[in-house]
Amino acid sequence: MRQSKLFTKTAKNAPKDEITLNARFLTMGGFIYKVMAGVYAYLPLGLKVLNKIRGIIRQEMDAIGGQEILMPALHPAKNWQTTGGWDNIDVLFKLKNRTGKDYALGQSHEEIITPIAKETTKSYKDLPVAIYQIQWKYRDELRAKSGILRGREFEMKDMYSFHASQEDFEQFYGVVKEAYLRAYQKLGLTAKVTEASGGVFTEKISYEFMVLTDAGEDDILYCPSCEFCVNVDIAKQKQGEVCPKCGQGNLQQAKASEVGNVFDLGQKFSRDFGLTYTTQDGKSDYPIMGCYGWGTTRTMGVLVEKFNDKKGIIWPEAAAPFKVHLIIVDEVSRQKTEEIYATLNKAGIEVLYDDRENKSAGEKFADADLIGIPWRVIISEKTLKENSVEVKKRGEQEAKLVKIDNLAKIFHAQ
Ligand code: ATP
Ligand code: MG
Repeated sequence: MRQSKLFTKTAKNAPKDEITLNARFLTMGGFIYKVMAGVYAYLPLGLKVLNKIRGIIRQEMDAIGGQEILMPALHPAKNWQTTGGWDNIDVLFKLKNRTGKDYALGQSHEEIITPIAKETTKSYKDLPVAIYQIQWKYRDELRAKSGILRGREFEMKDMYSFHASQEDFEQFYGVVKEAYLRAYQKLGLTAKVTEASGGVFTEKISYEFMVLTDAGEDDILYCPSCEFCVNVDIAKQKQGEVCPKCGQGNLQQAKASEVGNVFDLGQKFSRDFGLTYTTQDGKSDYPIMGCYGWGTTRTMGVLVEKFNDKKGIIWPEAAAPFKVHLIIVDEVSRQKTEEIYATLNKAGIEVLYDDRENKSAGEKFADADLIGIPWRVIISEKTLKENSVEVKKRGEQEAKLVKIDNLAKIFHAQ
């Protein structure tokens, strides 16, 4: 893509009303546009990042047998009245149509998936099954000051699973947990998994996937020597205490952002909607349900919070809007740069080409630092004489000279 044609331009100054780094850099870089507090538009660069995140999650959910669907955002009030959510969920957006009928905007989708499953899931032979979607959610959040970490409109991957037994649900939860951890790792994130508050069979399971960041709104206690991690809200331990799991490390307290979670829904929604199946011995029972959330837009914000320097964002490759930022710094190299751009495109490498004529090299580099594409290729007359171009990784100081003929190969190998 040619930067001269890009819908957005960078801004030199951060918006005054944004206090978080994610909102500041993402707005200045032209990734997002704030429509109102907690509601953002995702512009070309931002949508590319979101699509990368969606793609990685989708791949992992498909790999464990999840089937993707798309449910509506506009819900009949009746479904929420059936489960009690209409009166009990304070973040639920409610609206009326012109004839006075009540509706809700989906803040989650148990109220929609369960009636659907009633039509599809009638026998033990239909279980287990896991259905997911990637869809916008609406919540009347009081605090919407964390940029895209907390939106009133935000995107979530939400999966719902249906099981004939608690054991089967817990086995599947283990599978999802591994898939989540793989996906976080692909994105360059290390997620800690909080422990459930009680024993596995005595209390309902609820795990949170936490990424350490000062921008997060959660406080966790974790052990540096093992996987022990617990939300401070429910922790029985304190900072500095010896880890109850491994008995070695001393617990540390840190800020974290919840990027995903798992809930054991039990039979609550199955019962509310009368979702039953016929068991192997011909009886009728309610399936156990699990739900698995993942904030895709929040994940994008967390990536910015974790990977940056004072000049801008440093995208991990898997989430970057483009792989290569191709920059021409003098007009005499124009033709050669066009050729290189065509070659990289043909090789299937995602390139943002800063072809702007009216910008100085300094301005182009500053924009490139802000936007944060992993690889920068600088084309100038000086290196072209040696049939070479300068290649620099975002976040590193050293540039190296690479022969033009090797360029596509190098990026393919990365
Ligand atoms: P939080 O405690 O942060 O409000 P939650 O417990 O309400 O999260 P869920 O309802 O289970 O979260 O949603 C699943 C995932 O969606 C969360 O783990 C988080 O990543 C994301 N999420 C929740 N609320 C928001 C929001 N307002 N803006 C952006 N992402 C959100
Ligand atoms: Mg919440």
